[in-house]
Amino acid sequence: MNQPAGKNLCHRRSTCRLCGGNKLTLVLKLAPTPPANAFVSRDELDKPQALFPLDVFFCESCRHVQLLDVVDPSVLFENYVYVSGTSPSFVAHFQNYAKGILDQFKPAPGSLVVDIGSNDGTLLRFFQQAGMKVLGVDPARNIAEEATRTGIPTRAAFFSPKLAAEIRAQDGAASVITGNNVFAHIDNLGAIVEGIRTLLAPDGVFVFEVSYLVDVFEKTLFDTIYHEHLDYHSVKPLVPFFNRLGMELIEAVRVGSHGGSLHGIAQLKGGPHPVGKSVAEAIANEEKLGLDRPETFHQFGRNINSLKTDLGKLLRELKAKGKKIAGFGAPAKATTLMYHFEIGPDLIDFIVDDSPLKQNLFTPGYHVPVVPSSVMYERKPDYVLILAWNFAAQIMKSHKAYTKAGGHFIVPIPQLEVH
Ligand SMILES: [Zn+2]
Repeated sequence: MNQPAGKNLCHRRSTCRLCGGNKLTLVLKLAPTPPANAFVSRDELDKPQALFPLDVFFCESCRHVQLLDVVDPSVLFENYVYVSGTSPSFVAHFQNYAKGILDQFKPAPGSLVVDIGSNDGTLLRFFQQAGMKVLGVDPARNIAEEATRTGIPTRAAFFSPKLAAEIRAQDGAASVITGNNVFAHIDNLGAIVEGIRTLLAPDGVFVFEVSYLVDVFEKTLFDTIYHEHLDYHSVKPLVPFFNRLGMELIEAVRVGSHGGSLHGIAQLKGGPHPVGKSVAEAIANEEKLGLDRPETFHQFGRNINSLKTDLGKLLRELKAKGKKIAGFGAPAKATTLMYHFEIGPDLIDFIVDDSPLKQNLFTPGYHVPVVPSSVMYERKPDYVLILAWNFAAQIMKSHKAYTKAGGHFIVPIPQLEVH
């Protein structure tokens, strides 16, 4: 039950989100999808779900890789299945993150730390424990209220230049501003940076983490391309971007979070901190990989399409032999993979997922049912295609009983493998 996108739900911008340039080249055309997180309940199966273009563009001026089709946030987050960021590895990452900033920049006790998109306040709590004054900003009212109740004051709002001015008037300038995974989600990035500039103390730093294009490219994470992620950042275009807006990138380091991220630090232009060599090193590596050339992404697309051909052929052959196939894992990125590889209910009967939040829902658009992994042992499909393929090793290890009983796992990426 799909219908083409209504024009009012999505608009295509005509300029680069970082430099404003208009020489934009289409480098990767993925199949249009519904919003990647728009899982639906049984009651909503009759409701049509709109598909939106998933075209990746390369800016010939600054080399930034991005989507130009911007889906209305009210559509993207309508059926959002909220997953709290409080897994132990995530908490440990934030603990190191806070410690790293405190060690490097040594803000005085009582200095203001503001986190944009602060969620449940996990990161700010570590700054608070170190004696800093903290303030969260998060548009989700229920999350902001809960964080405030547990001792992390949080404003339920979108970060903007106006809000930044209000905070500065009320609480003073911020020594540290953090923003994690917000830099890829917002169409008007310039306004965010303007707000940061308004709020930041003269010696303050803005620290951000965002998925890194180098990881998307090296690990074939093409399925992390979906409408919520408007930008696929690399360091080279970010340097002139910050510069144009009165700021300066001073560190750019690769970290492991979210499958591979960029940890960047910026200060006000002319600020007191030296530019670390990490910035030039990151750019040199990106150039070595060819991420500053459109041809690299054309080739990336050809590789993805050859994986699609091989997997499609395998699945259709298995179906022709009467084999039963299921899927494993229903992360948001499975939507991109399923649509681009054309894997719908004609090929897979159901998907198992260990998250209770996804169970008993149906996948966006294709409406494949998502059920607990116990169903895999009851219905005994001959093959299970691992859609959460970045966890393939872990999944196969946890479900040896399935392969021992004669079942097979299919890993689609980075190479097609049958186990
Ligand atoms: Zn650009």
